[in-house]
Amino acid sequence: AKLEGRNGLQFFHQRLHDELVHQLDLMERLEKALDRGELSLWFQPQVSAVSGHIENFEALLRWMPAEGAPVSPAEFIPLAEQSGLIHRLGDWVVEEACRQQAAWRAAGHLDSRIDINLSGSQLARRDTLERFEACVKAHGLAPGDIGIELTENVLIDADHQILDGLRRLYHRGVRIAIDDFGTGYSSLSYLKHFPLTALKIDRTFVHDAPGQPEDRAIMEAAVFIGHRLGLEVVAEGVENDEQLTLIREMHCDLVQGYYFYRPMPAPDIERLLSGLVTG
Ligand code: C2E
Ligand code: CA
Ligand code: CA
Ligand code: CA
Repeated sequence: AKLEGRNGLQFFHQRLHDELVHQLDLMERLEKALDRGELSLWFQPQVSAVSGHIENFEALLRWMPAEGAPVSPAEFIPLAEQSGLIHRLGDWVVEEACRQQAAWRAAGHLDSRIDINLSGSQLARRDTLERFEACVKAHGLAPGDIGIELTENVLIDADHQILDGLRRLYHRGVRIAIDDFGTGYSSLSYLKHFPLTALKIDRTFVHDAPGQPEDRAIMEAAVFIGHRLGLEVVAEGVENDEQLTLIREMHCDLVQGYYFYRPMPAPDIERLLSGLVTG
């Protein structure tokens, strides 16, 4: 049994070692990916729960290495945060979202709205919000053209300087959504302090709502709070009819999920916007 235990530990060390090597390799490749143009933004439409009309797009980062399989942002974003690469990556996302939005405006799509994701370490860098504003302006866009999504935990950690920065953006007309609502380790008190325009109910609640009264209850409460605070309420991860029916009964405003649209590359969005393809 002793021997087994030692082998177990060696196996564990080996696994840990392999995992670290894999992560380092991934970060080295990601750094090059930026320069090699292997990154792109995809866009997932959010539609009105009532009319099904497209109201908004969430920009989602995609990495398709020239060699090898695509890597999920759920894997490389947390690593990029640890390695510090997130700042270059985040700057690229802001620039690319602005460039794309300006191109759509120039092509006559006048009411497309794009939201980007900002992580905690991005917001912790002092000049992230200023750079964001400057980029929007440099592309000739209005403050309402590009919004941001932040998670609850990011807001909990935010100091007053970040709060002031967000307030400034809010008063200029930038949309600010709270992402993955209900999953952070938090009280609800941050809702009092932060300037927000939308609340996105996490997809785990949406997923379980049809079978689980508890998830339904939490969603109803989230919609209620959101509306009482004057926020737009978005349901994430809607995949089927049952979920959609519940969401409509609860009077969510917007719906995002595979049921309507998956994230798509820009040319597909352009076909949608041009009305060549419907729902
Ligand atoms: P998120 O912000 O919660 O983004 C929504 C995720 O849900 C996306 O995963 C999207 O593809 C997925 N999704 C949308 N509809 C459905 C559905 O009906 N069912 C299911 N099962 N999933 C759905 P994705 O694109 O893999 O992104 C994962 C996470 O990576 C994002 O979660 C976000 O936290 C992060 N991320 C992505 N792009 C960026 C970025 O540009 N910057 C930062 N900081 N984080 C990003
Ligand atoms: Ca998001
Ligand atoms: Ca989310
Ligand atoms: Ca998430």
